Order: sequence, then structure tokens, then C-alpha cells
Amino acid sequence: LSSERFPQLKRGDFARVTDGDLQVFERLVPSRVLTEPGDIEGHNVDWSGTCRGAGQVLLRPKTTEEVSAILRYCNGRRLAAVPQGGNTGLVGGSVPVFDEVIISMSLMDKIISLDEISGVLVCQAGCVVDKINEALEPHGLMTPHILGSKGSCQIGGNISTNAGGLRMLRYGNLHGNVLGVEAVLANGDVLDCLSTLKKDNTGYDLKQLFIGSEGSLGVVTAASVLCPRIPGAVSVALLGCDSFAQVLQTYDAAKKMLQEILSAVEFMDRASMEVVQENLQLTCPLGAHRYYLLVETSGSNAAHDEEKLNSLLGHVMEKAMVDDGTVATEPSKVQSLWALRENVAVALRADGCVYKYDVTVPMSRFYDLVTDTRERVGSDATRVVGYGHLGESDIHLNVTCPQHSEDVFDALEPWVYDWVAKCKGSVSAEHGMGILKRDYLYHSNTGPAVLLMKQLKERMDPRGILNPYKIFPD
Ligand code: FAD
Repeated sequence: LSSERFPQLKRGDFARVTDGDLQVFERLVPSRVLTEPGDIEGHNVDWSGTCRGAGQVLLRPKTTEEVSAILRYCNGRRLAAVPQGGNTGLVGGSVPVFDEVIISMSLMDKIISLDEISGVLVCQAGCVVDKINEALEPHGLMTPHILGSKGSCQIGGNISTNAGGLRMLRYGNLHGNVLGVEAVLANGDVLDCLSTLKKDNTGYDLKQLFIGSEGSLGVVTAASVLCPRIPGAVSVALLGCDSFAQVLQTYDAAKKMLQEILSAVEFMDRASMEVVQENLQLTCPLGAHRYYLLVETSGSNAAHDEEKLNSLLGHVMEKAMVDDGTVATEPSKVQSLWALRENVAVALRADGCVYKYDVTVPMSRFYDLVTDTRERVGSDATRVVGYGHLGESDIHLNVTCPQHSEDVFDALEPWVYDWVAKCKGSVSAEHGMGILKRDYLYHSNTGPAVLLMKQLKERMDPRGILNPYKIFPD
């Protein structure tokens, strides 16, 4: 239980759910109140199995009005609640810590409208990313973001974590691509900021408050998202380098030579490539290298893009930046190269216990964190791997052990976060703070900034019922 793992955490001054509350919930969301432990188990544990709560009630609203009625009631009764999307979050934000009521958004999965010309999609918050893409595809559109968890994560969860993912280099983050948000505040009021306009400078841009606030300021019930056209041609190159200096030179060359068609630059080290090969039996077409780069282009003219990518490959090999490389243009081959990178997180889970750190550091220090961590934990860990979104200088440092090891954990925390703060990085690049990182909020924010965040939280959720114990240290 998270409450045992974080013994310093005390249950807040919240009411406990009574039979009377259950009867009210049953009236608000008929036949969608779950209380059987077997039905709730999966919603009490996060994706990585690291955080476990003791929630006893799960509510499954279908409409904004139902979310509003639930929160109005919870607020009046001082019942704490945790909004839950696909439960793929990696910082323990989506599961209860104690007995918070779980509000699952999974049944709010309707597409409301799509304007094919502007590319603006309006949908309920519980729509799963893969399902949205299935609906967009016949219209020649796609979501501006894509991530390894796309089969389960929901747009509301993505917005609440400000998820980055694999296309951010090209399309930017959700602060730019989400045009509007509808959210229910802690007191049940519905805040309709569901604009579909690209330009709207009428006062404060309130929707931004819900992007990245991890369900602490309101429950996102609907969103409008600017969706780009599916590119006419996608090509991928997998490149192997034997020094990190080569990696940076290659990245720079890719930006210069591919320019407007460059859509992703992803990084894997040898240990990441080994884990997908050993634990998932995926095949890498290149031999063993210390580092790998996956460079994607998205354009409208396949011949033109392939020519550009091949000329990049020729250049980086001639200049000895890259030791080996391969280019794929056929969709199935493109997909199998992507699978190597997208499956690292899944493959690592098979090792047992995974300590995950998603941080941004200056590009020049990108891999030093992995090297230093490897030296620090030595043979106590099964693997120390580094992979991530090189284009955003976002490194995922993952350390695995057969089971939880106090020694490894003590070697890692707070050391990793201190390391990141010393080089002025961010302790959370794209996963949020949740419960796992809350003690390190000050590592990447000044005191006045955290104070203003707390004031906002107090103003919008005075009883503190929304996703308590997360984001802020005590
Ligand atoms: P959940 O995990 O259910 O919730 C996440 C947080 O949002 C919680 O605090 C929850 O309370 C809150 N929340 C959820 N829905 C709502 C709502 N409707 N209203 C208010 N609050 C809400 N993340 C990246 O950024 N980039 C990646 O490339 C990436 N790759 C991943 C790959 C794998 C294999 C996995 C397992 C995870 C990956 N993630 C990645 C992390 C995760 O998928 C994202 O954080 C995702 O945005 C979470 O969405 P979700 O619907 O699962 O939300």
C-alpha cells in the first residue's frame, strides 16, 4: 500500500464512504457504482505496480452532468476523489492513496464533433488515443500526440498529465494543441472553456490550468484538439553510434538536412535495445552499438523524403558520425522499427521491479545521468537503461531489479533528483509529479512559484477533495 510505503503520509481529514453515500451514488450513476474488491482491484494499482491504494468505491459517469453531481456531493460530504483515465500514468497519480473515491472516465468515450477542414476534434475525456485515431483516419487526420500507452491512455489523462510522447518535436505539446477544455470543478460547477478557436485572446487562458494539473484542479470532461493531417509519407532511419558525441552530431545533421520533414528523434542505449530483444524477442536489424537513434520523417512526397533521408544516412556515415544504419519506408517495416523504441517500457517490466525517472537535462549532459547512475548502483541492479525523446532532451532513466531493493532505492533517491536539479533540469519532463515525485517539486520550482500553485489549488478546491496527497510535498 502507498500509505505504508510513504509512512509520513497521513490520511486527510476526509469523511469515509457510508452506506448512505452509496445509495446517493447509486441514484447519481445508476448501476455504475462498483464496490466489489475484485472489480476495483485493477483501479487501485498503477501500471507499474508501484503504487497501490485502498479505494472501496468506483464510479463510472457517462456525462458531464453526472461528474458534476458526483463532485458536488463529494465536496458537500468532504469525500476525497481521484479521477482516473486509462491508469497508465507513471507517477502514481491515478490511483487512490487511502480510500479516495475513484472516478473512472472510461465510459465518457464519445466523439462529439469533427471539423475535417480545420482539423478540430471535440470529444469526451475518456476517449482512448488509439480509438480517436481510428475515428480520425478515414478523414485523413490524426492526433497531434502519440505515446507508447496509446492503446489504453485517454485524452483526458493526456491533458491532465500534459503528455509529451513521440511526435512532440514536430507538433508541439498539448498546451498548444488543446484548443478547449470542459472541466468540472471540485464544487461541481462546470467550467465550459470548450473553444474550438485557434486564436482566442480574451482574458486569461483558463483551460491551460487543467493541462498538466493531474486532476488536482478539476475533472476534465471534454476537450477540443487540433489534429494534423496524416502525412502522405513516413520514413524511419535506425542509426547506430558508438559515442555520445556522434549522437549529438547526428541529431544536429538530421535537423539541418531534414528540416521541415523531421518528425521525431528518439534515443535508445544498448541496454534498452537488449531489453526489448531479451524480454520481448524483438529483432534489431543493426548489430550491437552503444547508442541508437530513431529518426522519423513525415512529409507529402515519399520519393523526396526517402531521397533526403538516404542523403542524411550517406552524410553521417561518410563523416563517421554513425557506424551503421538502415532506412525503412514500407509501413510494416517502419512499424517494426518503431516497435523497438515503443516497447522499452513494457519490456523493462518483465525484469521485475522498475525504478523510473523521466527528466529533462541539458543536451550536453543527456547521457551522463545514466553513466553516473550505473556507476552508483553497480551490480545491485539488473539493468540501468537510458532511452527517451532526444529532440526534447527528455531522458528516461530506468533501473531494474528482480524485486524492490531498499539498497538500490536508497542509492537512487534523492540522488537522481539532486543530480538533475544541479544541472538545472526538470525532475519531471512529461509524466507529472503524482505521489512518487511530490517531495521534489521544489527541485524544479522556486518557492514563490509553488506558493502560487498552492494558492490556486486552495482557491479552486478549498476542501482539498480532488486527488489529495499528489503533486505537493507536505
Ligand atoms: P491516468 O494514468 O489514468 O491518470 C494520470 C493523471 O491524470 C492522474 O493524476 C489522474 O488523476 C489524472 N486524470 C486522468 N484522467 C483525468 C480527467 N479526465 N480529468 C482530470 N484528471 C484526470 N507519457 C508521456 O508523456 N509520453 C510518453 O511517451 C509515454 N509513454 C508511455 C508508455 C507506456 C508503455 C506507459 C505505460 C506510459 C507512458 N506514458 C507516457 C505515461 C502515461 O501514458 C501518460 O501520462 C498518459 O497521459 C496518462 O493517461 P491516462 O489516461 O492513462 O491517465
